[in-house]
Amino acid sequence: MRFKKLIKKIEGYDKKADIELIKKAFEFASDSHKDEKRASGEPYVQHPLEVAYIMAELKQDSISIAATLLHDVLENTPVTIEDLKKKFGDEVAMLVDGVTKLSKIKYHDATERDAESIRKMFLATTEDIRVLIIKLADKLHNMRTLQHLPEGKQKRIAQATLDIYAPLANRLGMANIKWELEDIAFKYLRPDMYKKFRDKFGKKRLQREIEVKKIKRTIEKELKKHSIPYNITGRPKHFYSIYTKMLKKHRSFEEIYDLTALRIITDDVKHCYEILGIIHIIWKPIPGEFDDYIAMPKANMYQSLHTAVVGPDGQPIEIQIRTKKMNDIAKEGVAAHWSYKDESSDKNFDKKLSWLRQILDWQKDSKSAKEFMDFLKIDFFHDEIYVFTPQGRVICLPKGSTPLDFAYEVHTNIGNTCSGAIVNGRIVPLRHKLNNGDRINILTSKNQVPKLDWLKIVKTNKAKTKIRKYLKELKKVPIKYGTAKKAKEQDLGEDKIIEFKQGIKNPRIKLAKCCHPLPGSNIVAFLTPPNRISVHLTDCKNIKKYKKSKQVKVEWKSDYNHEIEIKITAEDRVGLFADVLNTIAAAGTNITTAKGKMVTNNLVEIDINMVPEDLDHLEDILDRVKRIQNIKKIAIESK
Ligand code: MN
Repeated sequence: MRFKKLIKKIEGYDKKADIELIKKAFEFASDSHKDEKRASGEPYVQHPLEVAYIMAELKQDSISIAATLLHDVLENTPVTIEDLKKKFGDEVAMLVDGVTKLSKIKYHDATERDAESIRKMFLATTEDIRVLIIKLADKLHNMRTLQHLPEGKQKRIAQATLDIYAPLANRLGMANIKWELEDIAFKYLRPDMYKKFRDKFGKKRLQREIEVKKIKRTIEKELKKHSIPYNITGRPKHFYSIYTKMLKKHRSFEEIYDLTALRIITDDVKHCYEILGIIHIIWKPIPGEFDDYIAMPKANMYQSLHTAVVGPDGQPIEIQIRTKKMNDIAKEGVAAHWSYKDESSDKNFDKKLSWLRQILDWQKDSKSAKEFMDFLKIDFFHDEIYVFTPQGRVICLPKGSTPLDFAYEVHTNIGNTCSGAIVNGRIVPLRHKLNNGDRINILTSKNQVPKLDWLKIVKTNKAKTKIRKYLKELKKVPIKYGTAKKAKEQDLGEDKIIEFKQGIKNPRIKLAKCCHPLPGSNIVAFLTPPNRISVHLTDCKNIKKYKKSKQVKVEWKSDYNHEIEIKITAEDRVGLFADVLNTIAAAGTNITTAKGKMVTNNLVEIDINMVPEDLDHLEDILDRVKRIQNIKKIAIESK
């Protein structure tokens, strides 16, 4: 194709088109792709040029056309996004970047369930709807030239087109592109069936045309009588849609193909309903076949009246009635919006979509309203991301999710033992925020256990629930904090182990002698004159004597380092003692002494003296000990 043909097409619908920009983009693309060839042997730039022509048929704006001409330079050539920004401005660069990002979403042999997620991933990745329009035009040209690729590749690409791109085109209301993508894909996937259909079409065409003409004449006569402007066309039938209807309705090719289907296009909504009335007077309507998509548009913006009537020879006739504008939108969907936009409207994309929102206001049926909201997410920005498992399965997560959320989404055990993650081949911390299209490998370790801190990292309720459940299970093994009877002799200086959080200078901190709290236990503290703070266990009965207003906030210092004894009570089993020792040693603990004894027939008591490095370390040790099978109770004493 010649560049001139593209310019002529653009000038045909956009008098104010920025031809200079489009010319510059074409020259830059020709230059950048000069060493490349298509599989057909043509110079590569023919491809962006053909795609731009498809965009011009959709009456797209100059920025989109320029971006289309440049859509493959980032991926195929050394050109960078900065180069594009400098030469063509941010908007063109942003669109090219968006199309490039979409082409990086790789999916191999996606299952049916994945296909929907991949379509959503496309929508979530796209920040400007024009990116998707360019991508679909790109796909359409690639499908039109699929004959140049090897057969295995043809089938794979055709299947992905059917699974992902055609439904996406449908979602955007771009029926013409959807039909063509489907019919080309059908041709490569079921070549025998395609050929049979084509032969039947050829043989029956003449007979069909005669029948349709007869019906058309009847309608035309009535519409002329009422001076209603009209244009009646036979509805084109697409191979793939006939094929799916045959499967769905268990009908033969003839039963579907022979059904007369007409489309009447008029000037305004009022005439649509008048035509409907006239048709229903000429022929009897078939109950249950009437749909008013004008009052209640479909989620993809489609509007039309649908009815079916009993024709002159008793055969059913399907009729669609709509305005010219509705017809354009039915064919081009969201792409048609630009040709109908108010000339004076702001360039701001939000405002461009105000027309779409207007339709939203008309939504009455709550199901389609939700669908429409989903559709508009592309504009309101996305609160979901789509990422891949190493096997290529797609997982949907809320925006801001981390590898831990992903791990729990895949399997609870993988979450519980998650020790690290590799995202797109790079090791990342567990708090790393995932992006659309990331490929994630979770590393697990059998020594790993869920941590309280994880609750701050994870985003999904599923992960939170699983972590909480795990932590709660742990609590079923009671830990009893003994009292530091010898606290006074040691103590080691209470101000060194208690952190005072309020604004009094150098208070004297005292661990109460009545309950002698041990580091790690739950404590409360009260201000007592002069300048002294008394620390008690929360369940000490003596705290009743303090006034609530005298309560102050204290915490155990985390750098606690002090020998303690833990007393573990467990049901005896082979290897229990070794398990306890190994578990504590594996936490990097310095064990001073350990001994075990039977206390009843089947209960044992294990006493271990050790020095945890700090409070966190002590908690970690206790968490690990609690996970050992048969443990019933843990008590802690100070030494
Ligand atoms: Mn391309």
